[in-house]
Amino acid sequence: MTPEETTARADALYTRVRGCERCPLSRTRTNAVPGEGPLDSDILFIGEAPGMNEDKQGRPFVGAAGKFLDECLAAAGVSRETTYICNVLKCRPPSNRDPQPEEIAACRDYLDEQIELVSPRMIVTLGRYSMARFFPEHKISSVHGRWKEIDGRFYVPMYHPAAALHQQSLRATILEDFGRLPRVLERARALSTAPEPEPATESAATPTESTGSQPRLLD
Ligand code: SF4
Repeated sequence: MTPEETTARADALYTRVRGCERCPLSRTRTNAVPGEGPLDSDILFIGEAPGMNEDKQGRPFVGAAGKFLDECLAAAGVSRETTYICNVLKCRPPSNRDPQPEEIAACRDYLDEQIELVSPRMIVTLGRYSMARFFPEHKISSVHGRWKEIDGRFYVPMYHPAAALHQQSLRATILEDFGRLPRVLERARALSTAPEPEPATESAATPTESTGSQPRLLD
């Protein structure tokens, strides 16, 4: 796919998301929040769902959690402009309640296509709901900041930045985890076999086998 074709597909995807009525969240949202960032980014961050500010602006991570995410990215030496950021759900759940399984299922195709289009070397999950997709057998308290590699792509589960707003003691932990990202990315880039573009199918976009390895902590 040429860069122009990738951009055209992404624009079409964003248009579909903004008009989506697949689940009841379409009736309570102000704006859908498809996601944003360069389509050739090495890193794709996946959060949970838009909050109040994101719903108002139609952009991901623009509220208090977004400010802390910017701080975390700075700790990793990464700028927001060079990363792709999206959420599991593209529309805000009322009162910021937890995403429901049927909403996640309804919205899944959009995330699948974003992963296919960006084809990042590293996927960083922010919070339990995005982590559950790639690390279904783990608890975030035991694997945050670790990584696993599947078919040339690295997966890193992180606490959601909002967790630090509710629990100050997690702030240092999250910053420390982000501080490890450059070395994980360095490893990902060093792999001679870059990930091939994946078709937008459930099986291809979901790493159901973990190559028998547990998520590892970079020394
Ligand atoms: S959350 Fe996803 S599936 Fe539900 S209406 Fe929004 S874009 Fe569509």
